[in-house]
Amino acid sequence: MGSGASEWSSKLSGNEVELLLSWYASQGRQLPWRETNDPYRIWVTETLLQQTRIRQAEARIHRFLERFPTLQALAESLVEAVLQIWQGLGYYQRAHNLHRAAQQLYQRGGFAALKGLADLGRLPGVGPYTARAIWSFSGRGAALPIDGNLVRVLSRYFADETPANQRSRFQAQADALPLYWQRREVAFALMDLAQLVCTPKRPRCLLCPLQQSCNALQLGAPERFPIRSPKSPKPTRYFQLLWYANAEAVWLEQRPSRGLWGGLWSPPLQEIAEPRPQPPDLQHELTHFRLVGYLIPTSEPPLATFPIRWEELSQYQLPAPIRQLLTHKAEGRRGLPSPEHRHINP
Ligand code: SF4
Repeated sequence: MGSGASEWSSKLSGNEVELLLSWYASQGRQLPWRETNDPYRIWVTETLLQQTRIRQAEARIHRFLERFPTLQALAESLVEAVLQIWQGLGYYQRAHNLHRAAQQLYQRGGFAALKGLADLGRLPGVGPYTARAIWSFSGRGAALPIDGNLVRVLSRYFADETPANQRSRFQAQADALPLYWQRREVAFALMDLAQLVCTPKRPRCLLCPLQQSCNALQLGAPERFPIRSPKSPKPTRYFQLLWYANAEAVWLEQRPSRGLWGGLWSPPLQEIAEPRPQPPDLQHELTHFRLVGYLIPTSEPPLATFPIRWEELSQYQLPAPIRQLLTHKAEGRRGLPSPEHRHINP
């Protein structure tokens, strides 16, 4: 059973935030992106942090903000320029959404025109976590954004049996906490506690500033939380990739801006209902499904494709698995074993 909407508040001991903040002052991480209260930079940073590991994130954030230093710069850029910086991160729909949301927000007068948290949440691609992060970390108002790490810490601290995938219920509990819990420093402290102390396996409870009042520790079972709900397996979807190439070039189409690999270049894709009776040429895990692809040679260039010289492929934005596939093909062209018979599993 999950907790009621105000159950967390009823379990507060009174001084946990002070203990947490004094731990954060001495043990917290120094992360450069925490030093700003510019909502645009926070937005870009939080969006990119969702894409990449924290160690790689710093360089990518720096590159993005150097290329698009302001909301206006991003709003007035072409989406292709955004995709170029995004290349290799996957989840390209997020790059499209970031660009579209920047255009909408800029047209409406920018962050200064926002009347409340809900206005942020209406922008394309800005979910409950990102909206609250922008709002709270820029000093606009109180909010505690809940991500998977905070679900872990808070489900343990409050011994909350809500399944971990019910993120909106955790967010509702956090939204009902007293305002002193919803300060940006508290969010940063909880994020660091999740990384450094309240780790998924073997949490270091003896080092934890919350140990005196942690409900899961009192039950003697920190690792029982968060409660996992059985995962339903990802569906598999099958695609034919229409393949036309010669020694000089490969024929690709630019995909529509929305949907799978939006705006990127690829051999034309056709979804089919069943697997083909041949080994797949491409297998790739996407957020919501597993993609299995088969190259289908065609006798002439498929409609809406353009010849792209093998040497110039690096100048085009390609989905990572397609780039890998084409790299194998290019190797085959140079006399390496024929890729026609190789199984590529990016
Ligand atoms: S006492 Fe242990 S389980 Fe509880 S919040 Fe701290 S590290 Fe996590």
